[in-house]
Amino acid sequence: MSADTPKSDKSYRPETRLVHAGTLRSQFNEMSEGLFLTQGYIYESAEACEARFAGKIPGYVYSRYSNPTLSMFEDRMAALEGAEAARSTATGMAAVTTALMGLVKAGDHVVAAKALFGSCRWVIEDWLPRFGVASTLVDGKDLKAWQDAVRPNTTALFMETPTNPTLEVYDIAAVAKIAHDAGAKLVVDNVFATPLFQSPLALGADCVVYSATKHIDGQGRVLGGIILGSEKFIMDHVHQVIRQTGPSLSPFNAWIMLKGLETLAVRVERQTANAAKVADALAGHGKIARLVYPGRADHPQAAVIKKQMRGGSNLIAFEIKGGKEGAFRFLNGLKLIGITNNLGDTKSLITHPTTTTHQRLTPEQRAELGIGDGLVRLSAGLEHADDLTEDLLGALEKV
Ligand SMILES: *Cc1c(COP(=O)(O)O)cnc(C)c1O
Repeated sequence: MSADTPKSDKSYRPETRLVHAGTLRSQFNEMSEGLFLTQGYIYESAEACEARFAGKIPGYVYSRYSNPTLSMFEDRMAALEGAEAARSTATGMAAVTTALMGLVKAGDHVVAAKALFGSCRWVIEDWLPRFGVASTLVDGKDLKAWQDAVRPNTTALFMETPTNPTLEVYDIAAVAKIAHDAGAKLVVDNVFATPLFQSPLALGADCVVYSATKHIDGQGRVLGGIILGSEKFIMDHVHQVIRQTGPSLSPFNAWIMLKGLETLAVRVERQTANAAKVADALAGHGKIARLVYPGRADHPQAAVIKKQMRGGSNLIAFEIKGGKEGAFRFLNGLKLIGITNNLGDTKSLITHPTTTTHQRLTPEQRAELGIGDGLVRLSAGLEHADDLTEDLLGALEKV
């Protein structure tokens, strides 16, 4: 197989890398990226097979951990992210779990921001302790809280920023420094910012994870995830876990993601422009108690956003007056925007975290995170911004 553009070529801008980076061509010189639906590979001799398995000659071995379509997706993402290496996984949660499990052993300790995607919080709070890994959850905005939570046995710090669903923003460079001073690694879940608007590795994080299910596919078709970091990080903490435990991405889904990446910049830019217009149209509305959008100057962490993000996001969080009843009337009044829990899709989607993604938390835990019963999270899609605004304003009339 031969490469299209060398992945080491740093001169191309992100939009160009999204279309070309990582492409491999077989002997047929196919124009579009090949889909290698194969579990394994045939060898010309027993000796060649032995050498390949021993890693003495390069080449693919078994699709649980090596496949040309997975390589293309991983290399394209690595080029976009500015990472030396990447490994794809079956889902975003497989990426988070693999990255964390690869960093800890019994007796270790993890510190994480308490505002987390529901399943990430379960992994850290409920599952890691079963293996003797303790955790402390902190207010991610409070740098002193991160610092105070670190113990001599802390090996990993974890955050998502902007957070789901409250869109709080945390200082990646400052938390990375706290991690490194303690000899720990920082893992950042960068789903809400996308690789286009925030580069955690450049800010000092050791590892970035994505649910590729979101903007990277961006068309609601398949699930997937990816873990990125230095070659050393991936080899020391990720490669063996994936190779031996198998949370692997299907080549078919990798191919969908690869083609999704080609349009990522165009989609995310338009979705973000739509979100910005909608946020401005809704801010200050009489039926809305509070609106948070990372692209607005009134965001509570606007200074951190200015320092580390290149764009807002296609997500807006706002609190409908009247609690759950008000929120449900609003949701049921929408004609265009779909009620569901996905995000980053071409279609505009809205979710009510209290009764879906964050229903596992107690009302007190939700209150502490700022997830009120009236809170909704909107993912702006590719429709015309005026149609979205009209739909939202129409539904607010029903509250
Ligand atoms: C969706 C999501 C995940 C989990 O991804 P899946 O692909 O659904 O497993 C993790 N973190 C964040 C921030 C997410 O939005």
